Amino acid sequence: TPAPLFGAADIRRLAADVDIRPTKTLGQNFVIDGNTIRRIVAAANLGPDETVLEVGPGLGSLTLGLLDAAERVVAVEIDPVLAGKLPATVAQWRPERAASLDVVLQDALRVTELPHPPTALVANLPYNVAVPVVLNLLERFPSLRHGLVMVQDEVADRLAAPPGSKTYGVPSVKAAWYSSMTKAGVVGMNVFWPAPKIASGLVRFTRREPPATSASREQVFAVIDAAFAQRRKTLRAALAGWAGSPVLAEQALRDAGVDPTARGEVLDVAAFARIAEARRDAAA
Ligand code: SAM
Repeated sequence: TPAPLFGAADIRRLAADVDIRPTKTLGQNFVIDGNTIRRIVAAANLGPDETVLEVGPGLGSLTLGLLDAAERVVAVEIDPVLAGKLPATVAQWRPERAASLDVVLQDALRVTELPHPPTALVANLPYNVAVPVVLNLLERFPSLRHGLVMVQDEVADRLAAPPGSKTYGVPSVKAAWYSSMTKAGVVGMNVFWPAPKIASGLVRFTRREPPATSASREQVFAVIDAAFAQRRKTLRAALAGWAGSPVLAEQALRDAGVDPTARGEVLDVAAFARIAEARRDAAA
């Protein structure tokens, strides 16, 4: 039989113990269902040698599941009370694994250094910052090869959306710069305490090389932001400010082999890279 994970009663007792009331601003919705923890860990496809980066361990239920599956867990938590309690929780429930946990008290949007290079990201993310956290970590830690994150279901759809689909937008294209993302399931509201008002979704990703381009990531992301800031306009119009004028925008688009009357939502990340590169070459 698998070692026990937290149930709802344990989670509530632990919360009472550390005297925390979950706060909305930090997206504190804790998983209180062992089956959901096992489902997330299984979907993450972790190898026994992996170092998992967990963002927002909270009361630690997913952390315990990850310690069962991987060699090491580095947990980044912004809440000092929760970060402070985590080592004791792990010592109580997985004493033999306590030495394999590092707790880093920090904002995942700002973290630049970790005690071990992580190979996988597995997290039930704070929903209000989920997309910037994922992008920041993929940018900062090239050792991250793959991952599985739980986010708002709608955000999961956006991250995994292919070009041309209704939910395709800035998160989809920027995520595609680093990785290929696919949706790995939906999670109901009743497995959380407190229960959120909307469903959650699982997203799996695998890192891939960004498109080959002489433009920098910042230059490519600037085109993406400009193209989607005015979603309904043609690219020629939407990119006029970015390029300097509609004529320069049209020229960059033609040089990149993109129809100037198309809209950004049909382009893949490689096309955005070509546009950034065309503008760069023209300006050089
Ligand atoms: N992993 C736990 C679970 O599944 O029950 C908690 C998940 S809860 C949705 C999000 C967690 O992220 C909370 O513990 C919260 O304090 C933490 N958090 C919120 N913003 C953060 C940030 N910017 N950096 C690191 N952790 C953050």
